Amino acid sequence: MLRTHYSNQISPDMDGETVTVAGWVYELRDFGGVKFIILRDRQGYIQIVIPRKRVSEDVLETFGKLTKESVVSVSGTVKKSDKAKAGFEILPEKIEVLNLAETPLPMDVSGKIESEMDTRLDNRFIDLRQDKVRAIFMLRDLFLTGIRNFMKENQFVEINTPKIAAAGAEGGASLFPVQYFDQWAFLTQSPQLYKQMLMASSLDKVFEIGPAFRAEPSDTSRHLSEFTSFDFEMAYISDYNDVMDLAENMLVETLKYVKKNGKPWLEILERDIEIPKTPFPRIKFEDAKGMLESDGRRVGNDLSTEDEKALGKIMAEKGHIAYFITDYPEEEKPFYIMENDENPGYSFAIDLDYYGEELASGGQREHRYNRLVSRMKKKNLDPKNFEFYLKAFKYGMPPHGGVGLGFERMVMKALNLKNIREVVLFPRDQWRLVP
Ligand code: ATP
Ligand code: MG
Repeated sequence: MLRTHYSNQISPDMDGETVTVAGWVYELRDFGGVKFIILRDRQGYIQIVIPRKRVSEDVLETFGKLTKESVVSVSGTVKKSDKAKAGFEILPEKIEVLNLAETPLPMDVSGKIESEMDTRLDNRFIDLRQDKVRAIFMLRDLFLTGIRNFMKENQFVEINTPKIAAAGAEGGASLFPVQYFDQWAFLTQSPQLYKQMLMASSLDKVFEIGPAFRAEPSDTSRHLSEFTSFDFEMAYISDYNDVMDLAENMLVETLKYVKKNGKPWLEILERDIEIPKTPFPRIKFEDAKGMLESDGRRVGNDLSTEDEKALGKIMAEKGHIAYFITDYPEEEKPFYIMENDENPGYSFAIDLDYYGEELASGGQREHRYNRLVSRMKKKNLDPKNFEFYLKAFKYGMPPHGGVGLGFERMVMKALNLKNIREVVLFPRDQWRLVP
């Protein structure tokens, strides 16, 4: 290997030991008699000290050729030093240039000059060399681990469903068509139909973390045409409260996991993660509407983005950053949501809102074949196109429910970032297909 140690694996008490470190040239400082290279690797920074009289001609010559962001491997001796930030520096015996970077760089890496979002995304590989950007993706990784740990501790099975399918679950307008041999298919908007079909199998608690595609022409800071959906579905629920219990615990436990394990990255970002107060309030749609109307707003049959924001403010004043809105008018919710027969016109749909924005949607599903078919018809969908799905409801389908949660929205909101593009490596939107 071209390195024996990452920067964080070296300490002052290793004084005198020989190590090989590798990374990018972050800074070059030349004071004549003594020169410095600040080397950056995945874990941090290392100071390489080059006193003219104590290093070889080769080392001095190589220093003269170096450009910022070049890739080097440095072998040398660890020297304890009170002047160096890390408490040690490295006196090089050999500097090997592995790859020389061109100048000028397409963007600043030090974080001192702020670049436009487009410039950053066009040069994402360099953008990711910035501490704050790297921190976001290290934290994102922890969010994934946190979710997986929690779901597995609760006996959920991780699944992967197809992303190319014949029918869309969430309505036709936002489908991306793909040429599939001699017919048309679509990129899936969510794993909805597949995770539900599995409720009729022996895998009666499942979750998936995977891509979802929506042809969203809207230009917002929280929509992308490809996002990561975290979905779960669970059978044998008593009612939608079981689904809310699971979603609530998942969010709280995941946030706790990231807060505990992501300290160094959160420090770099200068962020703390707030753990939402439990239990999350469960507010019926009509009550939410009432709260908003007594606040002077006029609310329709669904909550607009502005309504959600306003409700977020009201709830924050009561000390709640996360809460459920339940019992939406059935008309506004997809065919697979169960209607509430005791309260006609309403459904067992739930949304989870977080900092005044929708984070997840779900509820109890309609598991009774005849009712499901009539709901489809009510929504002007042709049951013939859904035969593969409906079949699973004919031979033993238990009551079930679940949610679909926007994973990037969760990361973005938890870290108080303003744009969903901050938490996606190579975002896809109406205007962006490369890189
Ligand atoms: P919104 O009203 O915010 O556009 P939605 O109700 O259309 O969302 P759902 O079908 O309920 O979305 O999808 C479940 C979750 O997936 C949403 O709550 C949201 O967090 C996330 N999500 C939906 N569409 C997108 C998108 N285009 N980009 C990123 N995340 C999305
Ligand atoms: Mg929704």
